[in-house]
Amino acid sequence: MSDCPLPEYVDTRKIFINEGSVSGSIEIGRLIRIKNYLAGEEGNVRAEIQFSVDDAGRRRIGGMLEAQFQVQCQRCLEPLQIMLKDDINLVLVADLEAAKTLDKQFDPWINEDTKISLANLIDEQLVLCMPIVNYHRSGPCSERGNFSTASGSDGEAVDSNDPAKSPFAVLASLKK
Ligand SMILES: [Zn+2]
Repeated sequence: MSDCPLPEYVDTRKIFINEGSVSGSIEIGRLIRIKNYLAGEEGNVRAEIQFSVDDAGRRRIGGMLEAQFQVQCQRCLEPLQIMLKDDINLVLVADLEAAKTLDKQFDPWINEDTKISLANLIDEQLVLCMPIVNYHRSGPCSERGNFSTASGSDGEAVDSNDPAKSPFAVLASLKK
């Protein structure tokens, strides 16, 4: 993936018909929603996004994104580097009404304007794939044991080795 800055906007009147694509990085400071989850503005976010029109005339937004940034470990409260990778698979619609009529297998991206803000789009996608809990999987922090032994209560511990309880599994089920 390219490290050049992504354009701020793409023009919906041209980019789908031309089957255009963009690739590059974006500053974390511009991602206003995901910033709330982070321990700082260091890191990088890169995306590769393709625009096309499918046989049914839907304007498809596909691609992938990759992000590396620091969050706070929920166990030791120290910074923790995490990496997120996610596919982008959206259909552009003009309003909520159009979103409702969209086939369930598609996720709508509602955009009334003729410009799509790539920062908004990437921001939203990152928030959706952000794990619910983050903590160090190795090092001294992980050796402290799980939440329940640390607090001495019987509270439910999140075990990263248990696929049923992994935040990714929870999220995957939420997405369905
Ligand atoms: Zn930790």
